[in-house]
Amino acid sequence: MLLSGKTALVTGSTSGIGLAIARALAAEGASVMINGFGDAGTIEAIRAEVEQRSGAKALYDGADLGDATAIETMIARCGSELGGPDILVNNAGIQFVSPVADFPPEKWDAILAINLTAVFHTTRLALPGMRAKGWGRIVNTASAHSLVASPNKSAYVAAKHGVAGFTKSVALETARDGVTVNCISPGYVWTSLVENQIPDTMKARGLTRDQVINDVLLAAQPTKAFVTPEQVAAFALFLCREEAQSITGANLSMDGGWTAA
Ligand code: NAD
Repeated sequence: MLLSGKTALVTGSTSGIGLAIARALAAEGASVMINGFGDAGTIEAIRAEVEQRSGAKALYDGADLGDATAIETMIARCGSELGGPDILVNNAGIQFVSPVADFPPEKWDAILAINLTAVFHTTRLALPGMRAKGWGRIVNTASAHSLVASPNKSAYVAAKHGVAGFTKSVALETARDGVTVNCISPGYVWTSLVENQIPDTMKARGLTRDQVINDVLLAAQPTKAFVTPEQVAAFALFLCREEAQSITGANLSMDGGWTAA
């Protein structure tokens, strides 16, 4: 299998896009460290399913990505128990929707910590191991919001633009190390992150649920269809192939044409 002998750490892989990526990498033989929040029984079922798919080991680490010490412990565990990560997928993310003048400062801090600063910590801690092996893949789940903005998402847009810039900078630093660093920028993907922002957007803009889905979310997406987690996962898997060695520092859109407009 394509990724036999490799270890992948996928942050935020207990649901949505991250779970689809963990499944896709495991299906190619990678051992996977799963991370994210959720019900303990559900997480254990996910871990067992991922392990069964790969035939290699799957572990769960519940590090809160807002906590740098917890991230250090998780990366150290990934090294001592799985021998990695060779593949780092920085995927965990949160959203909060509010006009900037009313934006709660603690929500701003949390979004910047989880969506951006955690990517710095995992990357700086994982890179020495990748360099030592002369091979590595860092795939960051950015967003169409790393390229364009929407109102009421100032923290998310700032964090995702930050991820895109960070990706480029680290790609230049690692260009001769056998390590590639890219971000995938999906448009709207139907996951709990999108579902959870519907009530706040209904409130902020005085719209019904259907209006938010069709006139706000899919308004930006020319295909008028949600991207699927499995499509993003297939793209992440491609970036882990040897054939993708020359793709580095790229911000790869997968947004149904949104940012072409
Ligand atoms: P999701 O809510 O289904 O998954 C988010 C994951 O992150 C979950 O596993 C959750 O437990 C985890 N997480 C949240 N806070 C965490 C923390 N403090 N520490 C550790 N894990 C934490 O959402 P999703 O849509 O699958 O989002 C995944 C990524 O994709 C995010 O970075 C998001 O910004 C990005 N994205 C999503 C969309 C979309 O439309 N859904 C579009 C573009 C980009």
